[in-house]
Amino acid sequence: MTGRRDPDIIIAGAGAVGTLLAHALAMRGFEIALIDAASGEDPISVRTSALSRGSLQRLSDLGAWPLEGVEAAPLRALHILDRGGSGRLTFDSADIGEACLGVIVNHGRLESALRARARTRGVAWHGDRAQAVRIGNARIEVTMKGGGRLGAPLLIAADGAQSVIRDELGVGVLQYRYGQTAVCADIRLGRAHEGVAWQRFLAHGPCALLPLPEPCRASLIWSAADVEARRLRDLSDAQFAAALNDAFGDHLGRLEVDSKRAYFPLVASHAQDYVGARFALVGDAAHRVHPLAGQGVNLGFADASALIASLQAARARSADLGSRRTLRPYERERKADNLAMLAATDLLNRMFCDDRPWVRAMLRAGLNIADTLPALKAFFMDAAGARVLQSPDVAGERP
Ligand SMILES: Cc1cc2nc3c(=O)[nH]c(=O)nc-3n(C[C@H](O)[C@H](O)[C@H](O)COP(=O)(O)OP(=O)(O)OC[C@H]3O[C@@H](n4cnc5c(N)ncnc54)[C@H](O)[C@@H]3O)c2cc1C
Repeated sequence: MTGRRDPDIIIAGAGAVGTLLAHALAMRGFEIALIDAASGEDPISVRTSALSRGSLQRLSDLGAWPLEGVEAAPLRALHILDRGGSGRLTFDSADIGEACLGVIVNHGRLESALRARARTRGVAWHGDRAQAVRIGNARIEVTMKGGGRLGAPLLIAADGAQSVIRDELGVGVLQYRYGQTAVCADIRLGRAHEGVAWQRFLAHGPCALLPLPEPCRASLIWSAADVEARRLRDLSDAQFAAALNDAFGDHLGRLEVDSKRAYFPLVASHAQDYVGARFALVGDAAHRVHPLAGQGVNLGFADASALIASLQAARARSADLGSRRTLRPYERERKADNLAMLAATDLLNRMFCDDRPWVRAMLRAGLNIADTLPALKAFFMDAAGARVLQSPDVAGERP
């Protein structure tokens, strides 16, 4: 142990969830040490995140919205199409009396803006990688790859789906590889998107185009079977665009690739426990869901706000921040929601990839019937966090 006083909380992982927690907890007077294995990497990616209005509200409540340098494209509506194109379901924000369902932001810019916010809050930043963990009676100690050590009453693991902390703590995890890879790129559209996202379910997975701030530009998230993704990776931009136009159809005019392409293997995972004596898991370290519903970060932000509430309550009664009693309410609040989203996205992905004619016919009919049921659509939009009591400023900030 060094002569310096321990922080109240160590956070391992400076992704969107870890940095939001670092910023918000430091803003509430907690002393935070953040272990950031990603420092020095280029944070600007072609990957986007759809943030629900619920997430914007949470970010705003936590003093993290709007964010400098994060341009937000409002998501007015979403069209879902089946493989044949004759099954169609539309979620329109106007149907629930809202201006938009949420916003689309560049994920790299979101991360860097949250990092910048956390840096203004006096968070003690450690550009290193957490490597080993030792739990004592009153404190948990983390050893970093560079040899440094940190101790605190509580460690929050926000180190993503391959969490080293989770493994070090011996927390069991259910993990399932989809055998799919998401191909992401910016796409130039032949027609303006008008704030509408499209998701078409293809034989090997969903292909989505999400509106970007420019009227004729969209973000592609194409989940393809691994073998198909490898084939796509070998194509030139022109050949890839031809494959995309064939797969997606003519809904947004001729599509052209307008960025480098990035590839993400898709995995579902769920930790057996989110908390234990002296630790809590948040975000992808606790759960990872298929991106077809664009909910991973949204779930992580909901984790962050529930954990903050538990920690504030503990501090108000001068309780130990790292005790199970402090942390259990967080786990109770979040586990069921996260599991429900994991199951729903998994089921949708499996059903839409199913080749049996009766399943395809059932899905086609299901989409078309659901499209005529405003109450059901409103229910799904509520479940996805599209409606909130107050109205957060959805515009974000221009870079
Ligand atoms: C293609 C794709 C599209 C997606 N689209 C959406 C969307 O539209 N909406 C949405 O809500 N979600 C979306 N998601 C999910 C979302 O990106 C993730 O859920 C989210 O990024 C998880 O954030 P996190 O901070 O928990 O983890 P991560 O983003 O994985 O961050 C973990 C951080 O921890 C660091 N780290 C790792 N190991 C260590 C260590 N040992 N020590 C210290 N630090 C460490 C990493 O470097 C990283 O900075 C998408 C995901 C994919 C793959």
